[in-house]
Amino acid sequence: MFKGVNASDGFGIGVAQVAVAPDVSFTPVAPEDPEKEKQRYEAALEKFVAQTNAQIERMKVSVGEEAALIMGAHIEFAEDEGIHDTVNSSIDAGMCAEQAVSEAYNTYYTMFSQMDDELFRERATDVADVKTGLLADLLGKEVVDLSTLPENSIIVVKELTPSMTADIDKENVAGIVTETGGRTSHSAIIARALEIPAVLSVEDATEHIKTGDMVIVDGSAGDVLVQPSKEDLEAYRAKAKAYADDKAALETYRGKKTITADGETKLLVANIGNPDDANAAAEHDAEGIGLFRSEFLFMDAKELPSEDEQFAAYQKVALRMKGRPIIIRTLDVGGDKEIPYMNLQKEDNPFMGFRAIRYCLNNPDQYKVQLTALLRASAFGDIKIMLPLVTALDEVRKARSLVEECKKELDERGVSYDPDIEVGTMIETPAASLIADNLAEVCDFFSIGTNDLIGYTMCADRGNDRVAYLYEVYQPAVLRSLKRIISEGNKRGIMVGMCGEAAADPLLIPVLISFGLGEFSVSAPSILRTRRIISQWTKEEADVLTEKVLTLKTAAEVKAALQAAAK
Ligand code: PEP
Ligand code: MG
Repeated sequence: MFKGVNASDGFGIGVAQVAVAPDVSFTPVAPEDPEKEKQRYEAALEKFVAQTNAQIERMKVSVGEEAALIMGAHIEFAEDEGIHDTVNSSIDAGMCAEQAVSEAYNTYYTMFSQMDDELFRERATDVADVKTGLLADLLGKEVVDLSTLPENSIIVVKELTPSMTADIDKENVAGIVTETGGRTSHSAIIARALEIPAVLSVEDATEHIKTGDMVIVDGSAGDVLVQPSKEDLEAYRAKAKAYADDKAALETYRGKKTITADGETKLLVANIGNPDDANAAAEHDAEGIGLFRSEFLFMDAKELPSEDEQFAAYQKVALRMKGRPIIIRTLDVGGDKEIPYMNLQKEDNPFMGFRAIRYCLNNPDQYKVQLTALLRASAFGDIKIMLPLVTALDEVRKARSLVEECKKELDERGVSYDPDIEVGTMIETPAASLIADNLAEVCDFFSIGTNDLIGYTMCADRGNDRVAYLYEVYQPAVLRSLKRIISEGNKRGIMVGMCGEAAADPLLIPVLISFGLGEFSVSAPSILRTRRIISQWTKEEADVLTEKVLTLKTAAEVKAALQAAAK
């Protein structure tokens, strides 16, 4: 059995089709006529853009608008003036089109692949994909065609590039195995959108697996079995059936309210990263948006997005959610979220450095652009403003006073907004948890960010495998913190939600019900499952379990008790 990253849930059983990328090697030859060489490049570029546009149209039908947009980035790179000029000047300097394209794209590839942030490293894959596409056109080679695979195929590739994924015929593809890519890679996003089980980053998969091999892809656990035994095959067929039955059963929760077994209503909303994700949230039956990570607007840009650009993005979400609540978090820059053009100074410990609300309050003019855009969008929906990484009361006071300044300026401009817009905060630091009583006096709501809260509470980096045993929501220290935050918020009558990954943890949900959590914000595909688990618990049952859990002294004991009680 091979292990990889569990990128898209479900079980795929089928026959391997090992796809090898086209050979785009070439021998550089100095062109006789640079003008003609430039025309060759232009022709390849035109063909590439036309092919990509056609792929985008096909993808809109197969995977939806949102995922199709990923391919838009290819066209942006291909048409980027900087790259264009570099290619043309290299041809003028005596290179053939192949070499000029190769060198220009390699520079960008190296730049993106060396960045700390995974999202930017993903851009490197896009750049390589565009380079291969252009070179294939110049050399007259065919790129991998995944559109005509036999039924029940398991695609095995080194790297599943967005352009390959665009061509996948989801009816015939039972699973995907790659040698590269993480859970947030484009390949993973598209695999999830297509609902094809996928395991990524399986070392040397294209060497271990041969076309024609029988393969099982367990996208939930991240396991790949090659030439499985009869017993394994039977066991996985049973698992696949149970998974499909369960998925179908979840549909009965669509369109229903989110209520506990004894009738307490909860708000079940989605986390999104860009305006288009709001479509997926609505399709998965989210009751609103509990976290819109606005930094993605900044990461995808080459310079700070203007007030109008930001307004357009926030307004799009507001219109899509049709009056349902939307919490938009202001820029959470720094730490694991790097934005190169903002030129933040290198720090020894960026996770504890000049980031998020700290950076924003120190750049009030820049921050006010975002706050103003949010206020303008609040005229079109139930938008709430959320502050990231708060550790001190003054930060909330200062941010609120900037919001008031922005309101006055909008009044002067005669622009409408929601005068009662709510301003709340993420509770994702131990400091915020300890002063939750004070923060609740100046906030309209709390949303607990367990992803960071666990890390800062346990002093365990969320991305460091070696301390993963400490990075657990079941740690008694974390549970005590959650209890405190929720109870302090509830005492003062403000809404307390959770937008960290733990909100969708099936084991933890009864504990959160017992603590009195009011809102659960989860990834869109987790909506129906979370609604079902909430519906299975009464407050009384959840209280009995939680009382016991709070007496336990280790994360392992807590997890075991929750597992034993799971329904
Ligand atoms: C969190 O920290 O729990 C959170 C939701 O924010 P992010 O994952 O964006 O840091
Ligand atoms: Mg966070």
